[in-house]
Parts: sequence; C-alpha cells; structure tokens
Amino acid sequence: MNDSNRILSGMRSTNPRLHLGNYEGALRNWVDLQNKGFKMYCMVADLHALTTMYEESAEASRNAREVAKDFVAGGIDPSRSSVFVQSHVPEHSELHLLLSMITPLGWLERVPTYKEKQEDLGSAEREPYGLLGYPVLQSADILLYKPYGVPVGRDQAPHLEIGNDIAARFNRLYGREVFQPYKYLIPEDELRAKVPGLDMRKMSKSYDNCIYLSDTEDQTAAKIKQAFTTPTKIRLTDPGQPEGCAVCQYLRLYSPDWERQWEEDRQGLRGCSQNKKELTEILNEYLRPIRERRALLDDAAIEEILCRGAEEARGFASKTLAEVKSAMGMF
Ligand code: ADP
Repeated sequence: MNDSNRILSGMRSTNPRLHLGNYEGALRNWVDLQNKGFKMYCMVADLHALTTMYEESAEASRNAREVAKDFVAGGIDPSRSSVFVQSHVPEHSELHLLLSMITPLGWLERVPTYKEKQEDLGSAEREPYGLLGYPVLQSADILLYKPYGVPVGRDQAPHLEIGNDIAARFNRLYGREVFQPYKYLIPEDELRAKVPGLDMRKMSKSYDNCIYLSDTEDQTAAKIKQAFTTPTKIRLTDPGQPEGCAVCQYLRLYSPDWERQWEEDRQGLRGCSQNKKELTEILNEYLRPIRERRALLDDAAIEEILCRGAEEARGFASKTLAEVKSAMGMF
C-alpha cells in the first residue's frame, strides 16, 4: 500500500518554453495535485536533455531556468512545491549509477521511444549510451522521492513501467522493501493525454507544431490561422470533419460550446475562419493569467526558487540514497 503524499514529475530542458501539450498532459495535473495537498517535486530535467542535446549542453542548462519560469507561471506555487534542476541534486546521478547495475539490457532495448529517437539521430555512431539508459535515469529521478504517483502525458507510460520493475527488482535482490510501486497519473481524457500539434501530429517541439504558453496573443493568432483543418472544406458550406481538424480539436479542449461548434462545422453551417477566430479569443483568454504571471518572474526570482527547491529536494533524496546504500550493504 502506497500512502505517500509526494509527487515527482519533470520536463526536459530541450527548449526554453513549454507548449500546450506539456501543459495539458502534465503541468495542469501537477497544479491540481498541488492544490489537493500533495507535496510536489517539480524537476527540470537538464541531464535528460543531454541525451539528444549533448552538443548544445550550455543551451540545455540555460533553458532550465526558462522552463522553471513556465512551471511557476502555469500555477506551481514555490512556497508549497519544490521546483529544482535535476543536475543540482547529485543524488539523481548516483542512484542512476547504482540502478544501472541491476537493470537488464533487454528491458531498455524494448522501449518504443528509444527506437524512435534512435531513428531520429540517424546513425549508430551518433547514438549515445545515455539514450539507452534514459529510463534508468528517469527511474532514479522518481524513486528518490518515493512518490505516490507520477503525472505525465501518454508517451511516458513505457518509461514509468520500467521504474516500477526496477524498484521491485531492487527490493527482491537486496531483501528490503525500500521502494513501493507508484501510480502513473495520465490524463483520462485522451485528447489531453496526447494533445495534437498544429499539423495534427503529436504536439512536440521537435516537430515545430507547437503553441507555447508564452507565445504572445498575436503569435497565437498567427499560428491558429495556419493550423491544419479539414482539407476538403474549402467553402463555408462544405462539410467538415472535426476529428481530423486541429482547430476543432482545440475547440474541444477549450471551448465550453464545442459540441455546437463541431455540429455546425460538420453540417457546413460555419467556416474554418469562424472556428479560428473563436478559438483564438478563447485560447488567448485561457493563457492570459499564465502569461501575466510569467511576465512578473525575473531571473533573480527564479534563481532563488531553484536554489531553495534543490535544497528541499536534496533533503529528501539524500535519505533515500542512504537507505539504498544501506540495503546494498554499502557504507
Ligand atoms: P516533448 O515531447 O515536446 O519533447 P517532453 O518529452 O519534455 O516534451 O515532455 C514533458 C511532459 O509533457 C511529459 O509528461 C510528456 O508526457 C508531456 N507531453 C509532451 N508532449 C505532449 C503532448 N503533445 N500531449 C500531452 N502531453 C505531452
């Protein structure tokens, strides 16, 4: 029985800004859990960013501060939740090393995202050892905080399973219940668990199809204007297929009136430009408080938040690491 009141989750610092997929799939859940009273550990995963950005390591580090600003702008309250950068808490690297010794290679080779990223990188020559070990580092991130659960988007589910498998293997090997299974807190609504991008592929910075939380109102309007809609709907009266239209998908996420809008779109009673105009207004309204909070955060304020966050995170993580070493008989 896992009665922990802690939650761990993270985002990579491969980009300085978070997008709507990051927000709907993960960050929004973090804020809900924080508001329900869970102790949140919100991590900017700069070490994970290096698996694909090892040549731009300084950039991954600079991005970390900006990502943390988006956490706070999105509703994470640093007086209740710990916001920190992964590499500022060295326990993550140490537990990763220890767990890597007990993780069977076959578990890692089977991970679907490993196969995808391998293809992205092109040649085996460029493929770093760290990419294969990514789920082990992620498991260390999670297990250090002995969390109740980990709130993430659908794409992360295979990694989370490995973490529970590694935990069970650790307990079995060293004869102590150091770790308890944690839950995968994936949004129930499939659309939030996997938000489509402006081109209807998964929203991802690597596809350049994102609306960012910190985009301006005008940038958001311009992006929505270019978004993918029903290709056969040329005139207003042509019937639309909202299931395959990015603008209609976002209306379903953000508009209280989406059912009527979808029906009118389907029947050719409204045009794509009306959908786009209404979506732009609703989305800009939705993002306004996030943008306002972000504008108030300067570098000094976020540095202080990250410094305090790392101290709090180390406070817990170092105890877990000591338990791990004690179970292994290492002093
Ligand atoms: P990206 O896919 O843009 O590289 P990350 O891998 O850093 O983003 O993901 C950070 C968090 O955001 C994870 O919990 C992930 O599941 C979630 N996430 C990323 N993209 C989406 C999306 N399009 N829809 C829902 N959740 C997403």
